[in-house]
Amino acid sequence: MTDKYAVVGNPVAHSKSPQIHAEFASQTGQDISYERLLAPLDGFVETIEAFRQTGGKGLNVTVPFKEEAFRYARTRTARAEAAGAVNTLKFENGEILGDNTDGAGLVRDLTINLKRSLKNKRILLMGAGGAARGAIAPVLAEYPAILVLANRTVEKAQQLAELFDNKLVPAPYEALMEQSFDIVINATAASLKGELPPLPDQLFNPGALAYDMMYGTETPFMAWARQHGAGTVADGLGMLVEQAAESFYLWRGVRPDTEPVIQKLRTSA
Ligand code: NDP
Repeated sequence: MTDKYAVVGNPVAHSKSPQIHAEFASQTGQDISYERLLAPLDGFVETIEAFRQTGGKGLNVTVPFKEEAFRYARTRTARAEAAGAVNTLKFENGEILGDNTDGAGLVRDLTINLKRSLKNKRILLMGAGGAARGAIAPVLAEYPAILVLANRTVEKAQQLAELFDNKLVPAPYEALMEQSFDIVINATAASLKGELPPLPDQLFNPGALAYDMMYGTETPFMAWARQHGAGTVADGLGMLVEQAAESFYLWRGVRPDTEPVIQKLRTSA
């Protein structure tokens, strides 16, 4: 029998997840279906309960429901607890497991696809929303020399630093004037609005990687990075495919090959 999966969000029409999981399924020979599920903003739990009751095996969760999914899950993985958000639900034997694969997807994209070791590197993470929070534990696990977290509202960066035992350094953007980094990750929502965080000219060390979690378009941050000496500039498409592969692995116990799927999405974009 075909096992049912879906991505739930609002809006959800733009999601590339059905295409990605269809590629994974055909590549690995897994018999699954994967659809889009639009939940009303005030009807997340009702929507996913209906999906689960009719035999659904798992869900990807996207904006704006990741915190609600965190509360809905009956058990959570350590990385979901660290992220404070759930992007993957697995339904099995009456159990509801919540996981967060975003941070692992980011680190796999950085280390495997972009071939950047994070060890002993100076890393700047911008933003203190869900995407940034999910990235912190997986990035720290790679032993960077320093992880600086810059945010417009600096109190939010300070709260995250406390939450992670001060293993990262919170900073307002003005404090970056004297600093430079090997890897700069934009996890702000600025790109979605066509905006750029206020960044100083000397931000990039020679050969540095500039990474924007947004995908599908050249963002203001990516354009700025090219003009200010970044060695490599990347968008978040690889992260998107890698987080999906982590979800697929959690559900099916098989790890798909992500590289051809990333290539296919790039050429079809
Ligand atoms: P949130 O809305 O939770 O986070 C917003 C953050 O962006 C806040 O820290 C906010 O600062 C900051 N911000 C917003 N506008 C500006 C601005 N103009 N200048 C500086 N900072 C700004 O968003 P998410 O964490 O959910 O998502 C962030 C990004 O990551 C999005 O582009 C999203 O598409 C991408 N993403 C990509 C994924 C992938 O698989 N590739 C997965 C998940 C997310 P403040 O606190 O001061 O308000």
